[in-house]
Amino acid sequence: MILGVNLSFAVKRWQEPKELASVCSELKVNHFQLNFDFIDPWWPEDTRNKICHDYRDAFEEKGLCFDSVFGGMADYTFPQFLGYSKTIRDISSTFRKRSIDATVELGGTAYGLALGGMTHKDAYDPEKRELIYQETIERLIDLAAYGKRKGLQDIEVEATPLFTEFPNDPDSSLRMMKDLNGKTDIPVLLFVDWGHALFKPLLKDKADLKIWLTTLKPYLGNMHLQQTDGMLDRHWDFRHTEGIVTREMIQDVLSSTGTEDKILYLEFSPAFETTDDDVLEGMKYSIEYLKPIADNL
Ligand code: FE
Ligand code: MN
Repeated sequence: MILGVNLSFAVKRWQEPKELASVCSELKVNHFQLNFDFIDPWWPEDTRNKICHDYRDAFEEKGLCFDSVFGGMADYTFPQFLGYSKTIRDISSTFRKRSIDATVELGGTAYGLALGGMTHKDAYDPEKRELIYQETIERLIDLAAYGKRKGLQDIEVEATPLFTEFPNDPDSSLRMMKDLNGKTDIPVLLFVDWGHALFKPLLKDKADLKIWLTTLKPYLGNMHLQQTDGMLDRHWDFRHTEGIVTREMIQDVLSSTGTEDKILYLEFSPAFETTDDDVLEGMKYSIEYLKPIADNL
């Protein structure tokens, strides 16, 4: 396993670039994924790009960099590509292009996103759901063409554990990857979050990483790793004793599916009211716990 860190743990805590870089350098990990919870892609372009450079430079000073940049929590809150009106979905296409611009300014080579959320009415209307799906495929093809022009290497679509969103299970993920295959100017890959993939209430007997990774093997990007109990999307750190993710399980899943080359970004999303000391302790504990099975540490 290659271990990386997603910066969700630092949101609302260590926002200032130099401060964030020094917290990250304490973690002794060499793969980082920033989120658009630190920088809003909508900020005025010139100013936003300068701020992106501040983050990139602060990380470079510590010998670190961002491999990729993900949508994050703020982005995920909005309907985006799966929104109830074409106006909203069009705005999201513009927003995603601005996100790609900012990713490139940050030095990232990959941009990751969850596609958005449908309104209840659309999600339960098969015809409307299909219409939004087909339009989303076109939007991703367009986004990949834009990414290529900007020098991005790939786009990664995160599957989420909600019926009102897609893709949300191995079959809908595979359908999407096949529908995109050969039509995009840069690869559009499937990004698996272990907590989403293990969510039993929605996935039932498909809440199994071996099923996900075997089904999606040709289309896999990197992944989010978190501790979870499979009953909600917990994003716990590895101190939680009720969790079902263990070192042994991670190793077994990766070796039996031949996916040891993927980067697993630890995505710990503590409650905002958790103290900063507790969050840092959870991060350090989790990295120490995972280190024995990480080939890069
Ligand atoms: Fe995730
Ligand atoms: Mn999640």
